[in-house]
Amino acid sequence: MSQPQQPLLKLEGVKKYYPIKGGILQRVQGYVKAVENVSLEVFEGESIGIVGESGCGKSTLGRTILGLEKATDGKIFFKNQEISNLPEKKRKTFKKEMQMIFQDPYASLDPRQRIGAALEEVFVIHTKMTKAEREERVLQLLKEVGLKEEHYDRYPHEFSGGQRQRIGIARAIALNPSLVICDEAVSALDVSVQAQIIKLLKDIQEKHRLTYLFISHDLGVVRHFCNRVLVMYLGSTVELAPSHELYANPLHPYTKALLSAIPRPKPGVKKERIRLEGDLPNPANPPKGCPFHTRCPIATERCKQERPEWKEVAPNHYVACHEVQ
Ligand code: ADP
Ligand code: MG
Repeated sequence: MSQPQQPLLKLEGVKKYYPIKGGILQRVQGYVKAVENVSLEVFEGESIGIVGESGCGKSTLGRTILGLEKATDGKIFFKNQEISNLPEKKRKTFKKEMQMIFQDPYASLDPRQRIGAALEEVFVIHTKMTKAEREERVLQLLKEVGLKEEHYDRYPHEFSGGQRQRIGIARAIALNPSLVICDEAVSALDVSVQAQIIKLLKDIQEKHRLTYLFISHDLGVVRHFCNRVLVMYLGSTVELAPSHELYANPLHPYTKALLSAIPRPKPGVKKERIRLEGDLPNPANPPKGCPFHTRCPIATERCKQERPEWKEVAPNHYVACHEVQ
């Protein structure tokens, strides 16, 4: 894919710290460093997978990009405009351009509201469309995500998990966004349904030239869906590469360990599983030096003291590790 020069989305040293309050006076006693210094360029039409263990800051990063959380530090640019410092009113135009699909769309649906009405609400809030126009558009959306006209009058509980995710997708694309963040969007679905939803996301991407950030703890899913993959550990980015490159030639010891845990599709092919020693450190008190050094099989003295730089070690292959040259 030829990449245009200007990225659709650009992150520069983005941080998100949550204050930890305690004591009678509820004073700030420390910070959960959920996202630590993330820099990334995302180009139109691509899908970037964001992977890493639970708690490594994937959702927080997504929410910060969307403006649902205010970045503690760093800059976020969307279509060349800085959006991380915009007042709420001015953000409104960008809000339509960026949408999120969650793991459980059911949680955000009102159980007493019919699906047609729930989808129409998006247009009531954001457009001046008439009732007839809204209805027509919702029917068109239902069709686009593989649902039928008769679903318009049904309630959320009448849908299966896969169908609910289709509704989540319909809602996300309703206002023609350019960036969609899928946060574990297929993680709760059975494998066969997962494949159908992934196909739908791909078809929609092609049709509307969407850009996806695809957050998932499942590296197997990300592999076939994304052109590039970003690996996070304790809020930091540790590796970024085109998918084929990352899966064939992982460089960071954390990426290697994650990949070694994916089951092989072919029986009989032996693969060594790298076990990570110890627990994930507390993000309120991350290790000094390289955040991964406490669990890294190849850590040296330097790794305990010095934080590794984020560097491009091969074309489009970035890694933060002292041991990778
Ligand atoms: P992931 O999506 O990768 O599982 P999250 O982004 O949800 O990780 O969380 C990253 C870290 O930030 C975790 O330690 C989590 O407990 C913490 N965290 C997330 N949201 C909040 C919040 N609103 N307040 C305080 N800490 C939070
Ligand atoms: Mg999450």
